[in-house]
Amino acid sequence: MKNMKVNYHTHCFYCDGKGDPELYVKEAIERGFSSLGFSSHAPLNEANDWTIQDGDLEKYFDRITELKIKYANVIKIYLGLEIDYYPNENRFEKFKKYNLDYSIGSVHMVKPQGYSNYFSVDASVIDFKKILEDVYSNNIENFGRDYYKALRDMIVQGGFNILGHLDLFKKFNRDNRFFKESDKWYKEEISECLNLLETRDIIVEVNTGAIARGVQDTPYPSQWIIEECYNRGIKICLNSDAHNHVNIDFYFSEALEIIKKSGYKELHTPFEILDLRGLV
Ligand SMILES: [Zn+2]
Ligand SMILES: [Zn+2]
Repeated sequence: MKNMKVNYHTHCFYCDGKGDPELYVKEAIERGFSSLGFSSHAPLNEANDWTIQDGDLEKYFDRITELKIKYANVIKIYLGLEIDYYPNENRFEKFKKYNLDYSIGSVHMVKPQGYSNYFSVDASVIDFKKILEDVYSNNIENFGRDYYKALRDMIVQGGFNILGHLDLFKKFNRDNRFFKESDKWYKEEISECLNLLETRDIIVEVNTGAIARGVQDTPYPSQWIIEECYNRGIKICLNSDAHNHVNIDFYFSEALEIIKKSGYKELHTPFEILDLRGLV
């Protein structure tokens, strides 16, 4: 396949990204992309400043659809949403009525036992530390187990195409600040997630977003997890989780090296299979 560049994880000014979606389309065309997916954060049940606001949802759908038609001869545009999982609620079903081309299922928040509110795991290192201290009495294992339990519940619920940033929980763990990925409990949690993915038609994304934000040196998921995905026959794609149009292919060449080293010969998206052989 001649043209390999695709990205299904982007955020523009309808949620917490910067700039009009057309900027992303123009940048993608400039950089030789064959497809581009928009995946703004779907509205949450609680007030917040990082998702599409309820009243803007239709505007977002209309705008992306308009761009899809306008650039149909140049690039394939796909309408998606990054949807947060809530226990006891099927939000993937709820947003299906909007005729999405695809969706990304993500867990950004945990609801610890005994609490009625959610805590964000990826807001800031200060917030992460505060949750660890105040809610989990500095027990990182309990915190991590809650995160991956929510991720597994979402995988079991299903209804989405791409699993967003599988190990987002490591976002602030540079230099093993909070835990080691070789810790028994951590490996167990990841392994149980992969057990579920192995038998489902869900694409795991390799996501370079935290590198663009300067908080990580490697993509989600960690290389040992990508290798484990390969060994289990789990399909993967490559996304940049861009919040700015200049980052639509951020760290892609480095991430492709990691993917190829892990054994993968192809990438899967909800719409195409990309052959990695022959890529240099
Ligand atoms: Zn996300
Ligand atoms: Zn995202």
